[in-house]
Amino acid sequence: MMKKNRGVIGIFWLLVLVIVPSGCVTEPSALTGEKKSYGYTWQQELEIGKKSDRDLVREMGVYPDDALSRYVTDIGERVLAQSNLRQPDTPEIYLNLEFTFRVMDSPVVNAFALPGGYVYVTRGLLAHLNNEAQLAVVLGHEITHVAARHASQQALKQQWGQIGLVAGAVIGQGITGNENFADQFLGLGGSVFQMLTLKYGRDAERESDIYGVEYSAKAGYAVGEAAAFFNSLGRISDKSGGRLPSWQSSHPDPGEREGRLLQLGREMESKYGKLKVGEDDYLKRVDGLVVGENPRQGLVMRGKFYHPDMDFQFDVPQGWRAKNDASTVTLADPQGRGVLIFSIGDGDTPEEAARSFLASSKLQPTQAGESTVGGQSGYVVVGSVATSSGNVLVRNEFASYNRNVFSFLSYAAAEDVQAYRPYFASVTKSFGPIRDKAIRELEPATLKVITTDRAAAFQSYLSKDLPFGLDESDLAIINQRRLDDPIRSGQRLKVVGE
Ligand SMILES: [Zn+2]
Repeated sequence: MMKKNRGVIGIFWLLVLVIVPSGCVTEPSALTGEKKSYGYTWQQELEIGKKSDRDLVREMGVYPDDALSRYVTDIGERVLAQSNLRQPDTPEIYLNLEFTFRVMDSPVVNAFALPGGYVYVTRGLLAHLNNEAQLAVVLGHEITHVAARHASQQALKQQWGQIGLVAGAVIGQGITGNENFADQFLGLGGSVFQMLTLKYGRDAERESDIYGVEYSAKAGYAVGEAAAFFNSLGRISDKSGGRLPSWQSSHPDPGEREGRLLQLGREMESKYGKLKVGEDDYLKRVDGLVVGENPRQGLVMRGKFYHPDMDFQFDVPQGWRAKNDASTVTLADPQGRGVLIFSIGDGDTPEEAARSFLASSKLQPTQAGESTVGGQSGYVVVGSVATSSGNVLVRNEFASYNRNVFSFLSYAAAEDVQAYRPYFASVTKSFGPIRDKAIRELEPATLKVITTDRAAAFQSYLSKDLPFGLDESDLAIINQRRLDDPIRSGQRLKVVGE
């Protein structure tokens, strides 16, 4: 939270297939120049990329640092210039392909690509890299997914519609179209994110590693450096207990990649000579980078959801799950049978937002009128929706607060509604300004690059009270070090700043 959903009320992000795979298209491969089969034409891929990029930007948000974004673009373009998309014999359809490189505002360590020339790295990933060479290899890997058209190849294999997904659905379709809408909703939770978890397969990943490393080496980078980063990925996945972020889970075993990259690095050095690591340049750029969750964009603490930037809070019922996404906060009871979705409404007044909701939801209201929400003036609409598993009661309360209109959409099966109503009411009733000044003033943790002034163990450089959500082992992984690693005087480290 909190970015405004434009156009539709982005409640149920259905997987809408905008572009049906053509079946089988034969076009020249950018990597080999030979004819190859794809699920989408190149033109379709360009269209898919453009649309999905828009959704991704809206849902995930771009990290607001133009200088950092220009830096990543610059490295990306340098690697791209050495790729099969920028050669004298590049097949004509790929000529003049523009790439977009973006830094996304997410703490998750991730990099991904969309068809048609879109490459993304998260701020979480940037925090975990130590130098420019590592960044170049990651970008080279993603550029190869685009150049090799791996998504399109996969579409051909699996009739894989999802890459064309656009999150365009609205609540009416969401509810009536699904058997078990609560589960489905909670499972879907944003189609663009789903799209990023799609697997290209091991062969495609290996191909991306090999070409990505070659492009980066040709661009002048010491690609063997990337091995240390793949070691970090292994540690992140161990720490998360196997619940891997998508990028890692769809990629080959980090240990295997680490070894392969070390070997490739040596080969490349002998082929292209001494290559650039770029530690100083890189660390200068990530000095001050936000690290971990950004509490200003919302946090759940001691049974409450707080949004310091927008200065509001509300209660989270005891035992309920809370999920804070870019444009919504979802609360659900442990069984997922009672759900409340909080978002910014589409309108200047509660009534206007209610009308816009009704227009896009196809909900037939049984009740609509003015109300109050946590002492703020509001508007409420109530209605029921018939689904294949019974009637679902939907209630949406809109509240005007600090120049925004907020929406509390709650729903449960008709027979459960009595039981859930007190929980829903406890959320809306508690809505209001943040009362605890310390929470209102919370700031995100940022990386601070220091030069060590003594020889000591890595751990000794860490502050005793680390910010919310970060522990010492996280900092060790971020630095690609062990806690007891000996650090010489004059080395650069990333610690957490005030
Ligand atoms: Zn990959």
